[in-house]
Amino acid sequence: MASISPYKNWKKYEKYLISGQWHVHTNYVDGENTVDEYCKRTVKLRIPLIAFTEHVRKKLTYRYHDLVGEILTAREDYPELIILTGCEAKVLEDGSLDVSEDVLRQSEIVLMAFHSFPADKDKYVEALKTALSNPKVDIWAHPGLFLRNKNFSLRDEEVEDILEKASRENVLIEFNEKYQLPVRSWVEIGKKKGIKFVRGSDVHKIRDLK
Ligand SMILES: [Zn+2]
Ligand SMILES: [Zn+2]
Repeated sequence: MASISPYKNWKKYEKYLISGQWHVHTNYVDGENTVDEYCKRTVKLRIPLIAFTEHVRKKLTYRYHDLVGEILTAREDYPELIILTGCEAKVLEDGSLDVSEDVLRQSEIVLMAFHSFPADKDKYVEALKTALSNPKVDIWAHPGLFLRNKNFSLRDEEVEDILEKASRENVLIEFNEKYQLPVRSWVEIGKKKGIKFVRGSDVHKIRDLK
């Protein structure tokens, strides 16, 4: 019997997984543009959905609530556009996410990603599986970037195992345009496992939008 897979927020916007922009950084951290500038440009390009997935930490250097405020204002200014709050949270060594409960409560879309992490493949796989089973996680951002940077590779069986888990947990795999990830073999395996993909360009300025 098929197990019941967890509900995820992205399901409400499933028809925009490829046409939307699901990975965007603003001037709150290392992006160049404001929420308003992004929305204006997104409407112009006829992109139907934009998710503001700002970098977060448990201790923030900015007020997440302010970012949410700008997003709420933009929803009034651009009623034709779907504008989502979100965050990109780093996976920690134990597989938990470097994000506060407060931010999670305000985020409609949660990206998890590996940034700094020990150069240990087994630890990575274990943390990845834990993160994939986190009910808050919607998207695995730039999948495989850590492996590429550390010169690690996974056997096909390991990839199958991981992507099967992602599929079961309803975690989307990002087509990351900035890093050209995931690699083709992962896409092929993912399709067999019933994975759903989502477009995320890791946009840092409006010129990156397309
Ligand atoms: Zn990232
Ligand atoms: Zn990012």
